[in-house]
Amino acid sequence: MSRTLRIIHDDRESFFCRRCGSPVPPSIAGGRNRNHCPNCLSSLHLDIVAGDRRSPCKGLMRPIAVWAKPDGEWSVLHHCERCGIIRATRIAADDDEGALLKLALKPIARLPFPLET
Ligand SMILES: [Zn+2]
Ligand SMILES: [Zn+2]
Repeated sequence: MSRTLRIIHDDRESFFCRRCGSPVPPSIAGGRNRNHCPNCLSSLHLDIVAGDRRSPCKGLMRPIAVWAKPDGEWSVLHHCERCGIIRATRIAADDDEGALLKLALKPIARLPFPLET
């Protein structure tokens, strides 16, 4: 397998979420990454290589799916509205559980085929 999904780590900066306006604090104790909004799970496309802040894109990255890894850890897949890149980001301890559940259940709520009864 040649393609890997990069996980972005950053806990140096805080910012205001461009989508919902919530303050996004630097990572809390126990959390290793803080690069997305704990309220709406959106992120910004800031990095070329994780943590380098060198991407010229700066697009809004919307959460599109939850990825459950074999070890049970959840990541959120973010899709950049501007350039289209998709990245995986480990969830944080203070991420909104309702928002995570809603994201995870989205495909179930919109089945592309009829359910047999
Ligand atoms: Zn937000
Ligand atoms: Zn982008």
